[in-house]
Amino acid sequence: MSEITKQTIACPKCGKMIPIDVWDSIDIPYDIEQKEKVLKNTFFKATCEDCKISFPIAYKCLYNDMEQKFLIWLAPRLEEEEKAEVAEYNEKLKTDNRLRLAQGGYTYRIVRNDNELREKVLIFDEGLDDRYIETMKLVYVPAFKKNIAKDSKILGLYFDKKSSGEGYQWVLIFDNKKPVIADINMDIYEDMKDKLHDLVEEKTGEGFIQISAPWAMDVMTTRMDGMQTPEQ
Ligand SMILES: [Zn+2]
Repeated sequence: MSEITKQTIACPKCGKMIPIDVWDSIDIPYDIEQKEKVLKNTFFKATCEDCKISFPIAYKCLYNDMEQKFLIWLAPRLEEEEKAEVAEYNEKLKTDNRLRLAQGGYTYRIVRNDNELREKVLIFDEGLDDRYIETMKLVYVPAFKKNIAKDSKILGLYFDKKSSGEGYQWVLIFDNKKPVIADINMDIYEDMKDKLHDLVEEKTGEGFIQISAPWAMDVMTTRMDGMQTPEQ
């Protein structure tokens, strides 16, 4: 069951104190309305009644999909104390048979912001594997940098469903211009699954892990290193 704490935060524009609900977890199937808000990117936002602006609110929250069996730890700050908490949980997963049994078949992820959380929920809802989505991003990024991001910095690259409901797209977030949308060729995803399977499994640690750009980079560099080794 989710625990909701009442808090107040100051509007960044006018300073008015705004009451907010802080959820310690979002539990699916119970909190389906909250899931919709996560998908619409409105859950971790507050609105000031006076100046009508909407602004992000970041706090630790656990997204638990009990039906599809995935747990996502939203950790906007991820400081020492929280890292220790993650390590402790992962250790417990290794040793506590009761916990292992209760959460058998679960996938665990750590994300750093609401966009990443939304992306993971979308990916898992589609029955896709986020590990190959992350490695696929590395294939696209050089082309995006060359063709779209000439005078801008790419701040984020997110997997998304097309609004038509058919097929997938990338959403590129920039520092100085509006987001750009680009088609995803899912043949590349299938190709990644074929070619990287063993390595990806090997690089996936137990318990809560961050599957993001640095992780994907590590997979791809290991693969390149492996390919450069001359065969006996
Ligand atoms: Zn305000």
